[in-house]
Amino acid sequence: MAATGRERSASFLLPSPVEELTDPRLTDRSVRLLLKRDDLIDPDVPGNKWRKLKYNLEAARRDGHKTLLTFGGTFSNHIRATAAAGHYFGFATIGVIRGEPHDPLNPVLTYAVDHGMTLTYLDRSAYRHKHEPTVVRRLRDEFGEFYLLPEGGSNALAVRGCAEIPQEITERFDAICCPVGTGGTLAGVAAGLQAGQEAIGFSVLKGGGFLNDDVRELQEQAYGEERGPWRIELGHHFGGYAKQKPELTEFIDDFAGKHGLRLDRIYGAKMMCGIFDLVERGRFPAGSVVVALITGVADT
Ligand SMILES: *Cc1c(COP(=O)(O)O)cnc(C)c1O
Repeated sequence: MAATGRERSASFLLPSPVEELTDPRLTDRSVRLLLKRDDLIDPDVPGNKWRKLKYNLEAARRDGHKTLLTFGGTFSNHIRATAAAGHYFGFATIGVIRGEPHDPLNPVLTYAVDHGMTLTYLDRSAYRHKHEPTVVRRLRDEFGEFYLLPEGGSNALAVRGCAEIPQEITERFDAICCPVGTGGTLAGVAAGLQAGQEAIGFSVLKGGGFLNDDVRELQEQAYGEERGPWRIELGHHFGGYAKQKPELTEFIDDFAGKHGLRLDRIYGAKMMCGIFDLVERGRFPAGSVVVALITGVADT
């Protein structure tokens, strides 16, 4: 992308580093685990959020858009990243937030406003229809023209951005794992595989079976066909999206103590716990090389 005054992508850490994790739980099963550290790409636009925004920002700029509009909950990493990307790449940003306004704003929304984002709110029932033409038309009436990024930033261009993740990895590997929120990351990662490799997603949502259809649909939108192989593990959600299970906290603290890396509790920790679980159950043959995609940073 052409530079603007505040442009930051030149300093982004790409390709993101790959590090091996040494842990007796892995060596006991003769499995090697590599961490693809997308969390280190940039502090403001970390991980998969940059992968998903990259080609969307290019398209928005090419089509002459001045404003990005997107949707999210009050703790959405995507809202935060879109505000930062708008700030650094010269777009106005509008965040359509689910639910009622709260005063004072939480840290995510404070950060968004500090980076120039205009916030507007949809109650929960209207939010459910957010991608429908009548709601979008009402938003255009209120805010004028904008480039629309869907909730979570997952669309065909986001999928294409995420397909670059496995292609950056020069080490041989058999499987690559990532957390699944909307499925955009998994759809892309699976599309970027080479023969003999597979992608495994870990749903962070309870009852995430519908994500299989969403991933398929996103690949259809991006490529006109399904790519893979991939599958989604549904049993590691720890009660659901933002639930606070003590076992998960324990896992995060233990992992941080052993490896000096604090995983975020909504996504990364559930995936990592799921990987150790599959390893323990012998689901990776001895000699396997598995990549864990670290999509974001700890939410403290
Ligand atoms: C948004 C996010 C995800 C979810 O990615 P999807 O493409 O929506 O499945 C995973 N990890 C982190 C850290 C995120 O912020």
